[in-house]
Amino acid sequence: MTICRIQPGDPASPVILHVPHASREISDTVRAGLLPSDAELETELDESTDTATDLIAQGAADYTTAGRGRPWLAINEVSRLVIDPERFPSDDEEPMNAAGRGAVYTRTCNDAPLRPEPAPDTQHLMDTYFHPYAATMSELVDDRLAATGAAVIIDVHSYPHRPSAFEDPTRPRPALCIGTDDFHTRDRLTAQVLAAFAGLDEKAVNTPYAGCYVPLGRYRSDSRVSAVMIELRRDQYLNTDHTPDPTKLDALSRMLATLVDQCTAAGAAH
Ligand SMILES: [Zn+2]
Repeated sequence: MTICRIQPGDPASPVILHVPHASREISDTVRAGLLPSDAELETELDESTDTATDLIAQGAADYTTAGRGRPWLAINEVSRLVIDPERFPSDDEEPMNAAGRGAVYTRTCNDAPLRPEPAPDTQHLMDTYFHPYAATMSELVDDRLAATGAAVIIDVHSYPHRPSAFEDPTRPRPALCIGTDDFHTRDRLTAQVLAAFAGLDEKAVNTPYAGCYVPLGRYRSDSRVSAVMIELRRDQYLNTDHTPDPTKLDALSRMLATLVDQCTAAGAAH
């Protein structure tokens, strides 16, 4: 089963908009392994879901300049509470394991039990969801490399205004947090992000979140793969009931489309 839905873009486009955390979907079987009540689970989903980031990415794809290449979309169709595709699969490498927020979460955002520790269905969840997802992303990146000679992964997230329990509450929480990697994020790409989102007040690099997603087979080994993470603070486009404001969401899609257009041109010239 693949839970990573690919929406094809232009064959000549190296750009992939990756949306890992937008879904609230949890199957009955997986739900049965979670400890919170239904009400508690809704609260957890409100805090941990990057609500409507799929709509922001879809809007950006629709706005990209015709002829310069529509990006490819890769969207996780289930909640990060099932598995988090962006974590490292092994215990030793993943620092968020300490907070119970590795590939299979065992703690909620507020440090309450989400699953028994260790979670008895971990292997099943990794085999059923995590590894097939990673394979789909890996194939998509390989495919873009073969077709265009480059791949540019733009990871589209959002994050809550107030810090969750596992976060350092002293870190700045700008309107846009840009996650970068020393190997995969060239200064030019960071500059393109800053320019595309110039309309937002505060922008900062690697605070409160750091890094960006690259499939493990290419991670820090293939410089043809560029990557950057976009973390939008949610109060900019979500109402207090967690529903998106269409006008604000549309403005963010346009900014992201500007970035995609620049990356498409840059990737083609790679
Ligand atoms: Zn996220």
